[in-house]
Amino acid sequence: MMNRELVLLDGTPPPLDFAACGVEPAATNPYDALLARLRREHVPFSAMLELTHLCNLDCIMCYNVARAEPELSTAQWLEVLEQLAAAGTLRLTLSGGEILARRDFFTIAERAQALGFALDLKTNGTLLTAESADRMAALAPRQVDISLLGATDATFDAIAGSRRTLERVLRGVRLLQARGVRVKLNTLLLDLNLTEREAMLDLACGLGVEYEQVVKVSAADDGSDRAGRHQLSRQQMSALFQADQTPFYGRQRDDACRTCQVGLSSCLISPYGEVYPCNELRISAGNIRHQPFDQIWADAPILRELRERHTFAQLPECRVCPINAYCEGRCAGLAWKAHGDLYGPDPVACRQAQARFEQQNPGQKAPQTPLQARRGADAPRNRVFVSQTEVMAP
Ligand code: SF4
Ligand code: SF4
Repeated sequence: MMNRELVLLDGTPPPLDFAACGVEPAATNPYDALLARLRREHVPFSAMLELTHLCNLDCIMCYNVARAEPELSTAQWLEVLEQLAAAGTLRLTLSGGEILARRDFFTIAERAQALGFALDLKTNGTLLTAESADRMAALAPRQVDISLLGATDATFDAIAGSRRTLERVLRGVRLLQARGVRVKLNTLLLDLNLTEREAMLDLACGLGVEYEQVVKVSAADDGSDRAGRHQLSRQQMSALFQADQTPFYGRQRDDACRTCQVGLSSCLISPYGEVYPCNELRISAGNIRHQPFDQIWADAPILRELRERHTFAQLPECRVCPINAYCEGRCAGLAWKAHGDLYGPDPVACRQAQARFEQQNPGQKAPQTPLQARRGADAPRNRVFVSQTEVMAP
């Protein structure tokens, strides 16, 4: 049985989480030393492969948008694996869409295993059968991530746009557990499932799996935002943080810090061959249909810029934000999606920081962030994504 106090909200880091702020610690163990060196040398040690945007569910918070063009073929994905191995990639996350919606999923995954990658898998779990669970277990994944979006079928179905979703997900979880696979459940908290938060926690505890609840909703890749209106309000976040037992450690940042490691040592490849800095920041670095991965990784302007410039010193509003010590997870991708500015504030992080401030300073109202202060005069623009070309909405 899992200790309920182990549940984290958005993976709150321990004090002085150097990995999160981009400052390299003095290596305390060989693994940390290796990671620090890979980041310093910009080795793409971790990659997420979105094998497909096909999916049997229709979750309202899904940010994938299928294009009217073919996805990479089996042979092209196998070639991507070879190129990543040659580039020094060690960790692969295979994701979708739904990975099992691709008939050749196991062909690709088994080749990845044979090449020696450490594998993480993301699936919705509903398509698992005894046979596919056997094959998944044989991949020896480090972890399989599955979403838990409600503690009742009614809630889960409303969010996932499907029928008997909870029942099918739990069946999938148990099939994997029975084969010794480590499963982690993840919940995106929305106003639709907030009342079932405790029940979901009990469910995860009962299953004995790792469990995490997060609060950030991101817009889809075409700029649409079906789940945005279900994002928790600041009041709901405040109440959540009050109830949550997870310790919080605020921190001041210096100019050399990074709010995340985007661009340094990981990337995402889409089903259409686009290489992106990460799953939120979908500014194309290039397409592996037209250019070898190592060239894209070394030369893409967006990756070079992130490596050289994406530090706290370049975030003008975050630097002067009165509650930046309470900000735990400014995301460059969400900032870019919100107002087309990589270096701007992330509106969801702003709301979250205010909720944290109020949790840590009972009875005090959180100050406005710079974004909130200027919003009336400078309303955020909506970004529209058209294939590889980005255009700003008028
Ligand atoms: S709360 Fe908003 S403005 Fe302040 S540091 Fe975080 S993202 Fe930047
Ligand atoms: S931009 Fe956002 S999603 Fe990408 S690595 Fe940074 S925090 Fe994570």
